[in-house]
Amino acid sequence: MKAKYERVMIKLSGEALAGDQGFGINPSTVKDICTSIKSVYDLGVEISIVVGGGNFWRGRQSDEMDKSTADYMGMLATVLNALALQDSLEGMGIPVRVQTAIEMREIAEPYIKRKAVRHLEKNRIVIFAAGTGNPFFTTDTTAALRAAEIDANIILLAKNVDAVYDSDPNINPDAKKYSHLSYLDVINRGLKVMDSTAITLCMDNHIPILVFGLNDPKNILRAISGEKIGTLINGDKNE
Ligand code: UDP
Repeated sequence: MKAKYERVMIKLSGEALAGDQGFGINPSTVKDICTSIKSVYDLGVEISIVVGGGNFWRGRQSDEMDKSTADYMGMLATVLNALALQDSLEGMGIPVRVQTAIEMREIAEPYIKRKAVRHLEKNRIVIFAAGTGNPFFTTDTTAALRAAEIDANIILLAKNVDAVYDSDPNINPDAKKYSHLSYLDVINRGLKVMDSTAITLCMDNHIPILVFGLNDPKNILRAISGEKIGTLINGDKNE
């Protein structure tokens, strides 16, 4: 199998790591995800990963707490997930570097763009943790920002649904599935794919996004090989 992309950004939500338990980290789920990431790595693709933290904490979870404090807690949650992914990937013999947007030098490198690119060139997987380092942002925005910085060809947005729909397919059995959308479609139709900051950043920097389901971890490999799965979002007009 040949890879369609040279350098990719994989965005994993925190929940993807929780498996059926819905909270925290499920080691066998992490192993499944990392096994499919390895299959992509073995094709020679340069891989960067941004992982969320929703399996532990989301800033908007608390109304009472100071918003920034709640967001910093969310950013710390992403570090737990990043270390779990690092551990699992390293167990499979893949060199991995975690870089954090908030310095914690004892456990990870600080985020340095040039170093990240160097790691990728040396075939190390780079995991970007602690979000952007700023409250009031999301890890989707982190994925868009880092993808722009490191010149990733595409963002692979792994979700708990297999594509973007016009309404929630779990509630509406007639929900329409999109195979292609433009950035403006997503914004104008208020589709809940990424938050508007993230999608705008992708639009301004011409970074395509492929939304697909992680229910089958092999989908990452299908996405990399250019198989038509999920929903592709780019600057082209809607079909
Ligand atoms: N967060 C933040 N700034 C960032 C990235 C994340 O403040 O640049 C916080 C925010 O509170 C968010 C939480 O970290 O709710 C966890 O990230 P997210 O909700 O994006 O994780 P996911 O939904 O992908 O699991």
